[in-house]
Parts: sequence; C-alpha cells; structure tokens
Amino acid sequence: MNSENERKNKNEIWSKTKNKEREKEKEEEEKKKNPKSGIKSKAHTGEHILFRALSTVFEGMSVKKVELDKRNYFLIHYEKDMDWDDILKAERLANRIISEERPVKQITGSKKDVAEQFPQLRVRWDRIKDETVTVVEVEDFDWAACVGEHVSNTREIEYIMVTRVTSVGKGYYEVEFEVAERAKNLALERAHLARKAASVLRTSFDELIQTVKNLKETQEHLTESVRALTQTVMSKVAPEDIEGVSVYIEDVSGADRRTLRKAASKLAGEKDSLVVFVEQVEDAFLVAARGPSLVIDCTALVKVILPEGKGGGKPEYALASSSTKVDLKEAKERIRQFLRKPKQITES
Ligand SMILES: [Zn+2]
Repeated sequence: MNSENERKNKNEIWSKTKNKEREKEKEEEEKKKNPKSGIKSKAHTGEHILFRALSTVFEGMSVKKVELDKRNYFLIHYEKDMDWDDILKAERLANRIISEERPVKQITGSKKDVAEQFPQLRVRWDRIKDETVTVVEVEDFDWAACVGEHVSNTREIEYIMVTRVTSVGKGYYEVEFEVAERAKNLALERAHLARKAASVLRTSFDELIQTVKNLKETQEHLTESVRALTQTVMSKVAPEDIEGVSVYIEDVSGADRRTLRKAASKLAGEKDSLVVFVEQVEDAFLVAARGPSLVIDCTALVKVILPEGKGGGKPEYALASSSTKVDLKEAKERIRQFLRKPKQITES
C-alpha cells in the first residue's frame, strides 16, 4: 500500500471513530432531554415499523425472535427468496412512515377486546400469561403486543435501514437493521463503499452490478477454458526413462491445478508410471503420483524435489507448494538420485 492510501485509510478510520463518538454524545444528550427517546426506544419502535413494512412487501412473512442490543436484528420465517429490490421497497415504506410523524400509542385491554379491536394485531397468544394485553399502535400502520419502551411519534426514529440479511437455514433469515444517527452514518459509509467499488471497476453506479456480473461470468469462462486447455496438454505429455522408471515430468505453468491433480492420478494409474507435474505462474505447485506396481513414496519424493515446500499426501500421491520455483532440470536430477537410492524406495 502506498503512503497516500495509508494516509487516506488512517483518515477514514479516524473519521469513523469520530462519527461513533458523535453518535454516542448525541444519544446521551437526547436521553437526558427525554429518557423515553433513547436509542433502544427508537430501535424498538423502528423494529415494529420495519417488520410491518417487510411483511407488506414479502407476504406471508412471520417473526420468530427479536434482539435489540449490540446487534439489532430479527429472525424471520419466509418461504421464498428475499429480493434486494423488494427490501429497498420495504425500507422506503418504513422511512416514509417515520417521516410522517405518526403517533405511537399504547393501548391496554383484555385479550378478547384487543383481538376484536385490532384485527391486524401481531401477537403470540401462547406467550401472554396475563388477562390484559398492551398493544403498541403506530397510527394506521402497525399493531403489536409489546411491553417494551417506545418513542411517542415515529419521527423520533429519524431513519432506518436494513444493514444485512443473512439466510440461516431453509426459509429462515436474520434481518439486521440500524436506526437514527447510526443508520445515517452507515448509509453514508455504504454509499462511499459503492462509489469506491465503481471507481476500482472504472464504471458508473448504474453499471456497477452488471460490471460485477460480467466479471464473474468472464472469470467462470476463463476457468473453463484453462481446464479444457489443461486437459489437452495432459493428453499430449510423453514419458522419459529415469533409472529404469517411466516418468512423466512436465512444467505445465498456467494449467488449472485441480485438473492437474486429477490428471496426474489418472495418468499414473493408467500408464503405471511416475508422474510429476509442476505449475508455477505465481507460487510453485507440485503434484507427484505413481502407478500401482511402483514402490516409490511420493511424500518423500516431493520433499526431495521441493525441500522448503509445504504439503503431504500418501505414498501413491502427494502435493507440495512453495514460494521457491522449481527448476525442471534440477528436479529431474533429484528424481534420478532419489530413484537410485534403494532406501528411498519403500514398500507401501
Ligand atoms: Zn415493541
């Protein structure tokens, strides 16, 4: 990283810490003015609104668990996939409700009365032991049985955003969110991130997603091509005689390593030979395999070819990698020495 970037990053970290401090100060200040409008009340009421907004967009969604602490999230059940564009629709709806300064009221009544009065009530009757129920109403929008602390009007929440959606098993999602100053800062940081991503990819915002999709597709095609090429190269390799053993030894730099491993194993078995392949475009990668009739320990052989390498395997098949490149001529000489020494040839 150059010093310019380092400086930028330090500034970024510094300003993030400053933002966090400012958030805390603002929250403390507000708490003094109005104890009920603390961040927890905002998160709590925000959760009611966001859940209602989400379940309006994603029909049939139900809430299983709510946590409001270091991480604000709810666990939901929803059978289908959650689409990002629909999540944005829900966020827009929730923020509209917040900006409309709707009154948030608490109404207490008997189970029967409450059930009749609020047909859209979100409640888990099995959880309610008392005869009376407290309903939190966000005017003309949401009704939920809840005993927590809430703000008195939606505007106090300021702003809400979904920060993460994680799939946790089939049909279950964790939806994380943030409210008020924290959410605003996070929105700025995420916008900054998107700008940076567009800049790195040398594209516009509108083209960002398509650019990433294209890159991914190109990457997949390239991998396919390299695999096909590797197969072709593998079909053309010829053996040489080293100390009376048929040895296939090649530097196939640029080849796909997964294909290489499979091909080495297959070739060694089919030709009952020793196979040593090297791929070293970046670091050095080595695979050694031997046929069923050869009594050669491949794990010992790879250590002889690449002494500083890391790896291992079985007598009939071993891998190694190292930052030091393999010199093929030198490697052949080492294999010759190895095959000459009877003690290196062990029964498997
Ligand atoms: Zn609540």
